[in-house]
Amino acid sequence: MDASMDNYGASLYKIRDDSVKPRHFLGADNADEIEAILSDREGHSLHEFIDGNEPLRPIIDFDLPEDTLNAITPKLTCNQAKNSLCCAFRDTCLEVFPKWDKKTMTISESSDTKKISLHVSTTGMRLPNIAQVAMFTELVRKKLPVALQANSIIDNIANKSSFSLRMLGSPKYNEKTGEHIRVKKAIHPKDGSVFDFMIRPPNDESEIIENSPLLVIPESESISHSSMGVDVTEVELELVEKLLRESSIEGFNLSFPSEQSPDVFPLKRMAQSYCSLCDREHTNENAYIIRNKKSYSFHCYRADQEKPSGSRKPSIKLAPSETALS
Ligand SMILES: [Zn+2]
Repeated sequence: MDASMDNYGASLYKIRDDSVKPRHFLGADNADEIEAILSDREGHSLHEFIDGNEPLRPIIDFDLPEDTLNAITPKLTCNQAKNSLCCAFRDTCLEVFPKWDKKTMTISESSDTKKISLHVSTTGMRLPNIAQVAMFTELVRKKLPVALQANSIIDNIANKSSFSLRMLGSPKYNEKTGEHIRVKKAIHPKDGSVFDFMIRPPNDESEIIENSPLLVIPESESISHSSMGVDVTEVELELVEKLLRESSIEGFNLSFPSEQSPDVFPLKRMAQSYCSLCDREHTNENAYIIRNKKSYSFHCYRADQEKPSGSRKPSIKLAPSETALS
């Protein structure tokens, strides 16, 4: 681990400069430090990493390729698609927070003729954590025309690994060609600073909407394993927990398999940790363990999604350590 990795860990903001290899992280604790990094590195691709348990602005990440738009019936123009998104966002904000000021809506766009790529957010309110932002996103999604509701078009950021927001004025870095493409620009407010578009900017004093009944997170169904005749004992659960620890897989809460999937142990994420299948830090992705007779393997839902079609799901075999065998 190099020095830059060490000092970004203690900072409030972790900004990634992926124009250099290996990945380089810059730490900042306040507005001045962020501005210093941005002016220093103009034209590079910088990312904002967000802690999922801090208040943050709701944000919609919208990606609509031109081909997908053209295939929609009844026909939708580019402006109609953008408008329906902005209206859905506005209406959801007003439902969640009736005193919300619609002038605080922020919109940024990546310049690309082949697709619509928008970030819609607001400086006028915050939600208590990323789970509520995920609920908010689902409310917006339901207000869109059905053809625009696909996961690939309106992304739920809570399902992503650590959230990265491309900074204003910075292009996306294409790892394959090494080019900087698709500069991101402010649409509203036109003269907005980068802080208007961050989701957890420094010194944000906007209202935190604590108790919206619309954003109540459903209790995850707890599994009563004893009554379900599942062939897993406490001892086996402890063994799997031990195997996870020995493989340095951290940040999860292990549960008993369900009756429907007796060989799948769900892993619910409790804390941020590094995923070696994806080679990145995860803040929200869940994972699972598969039992095959007496052996166990770790799988990540994100890694499953990212795998090339036709190939096997990537996994990590959880091997007992030498001492466990002896
Ligand atoms: Zn992963």
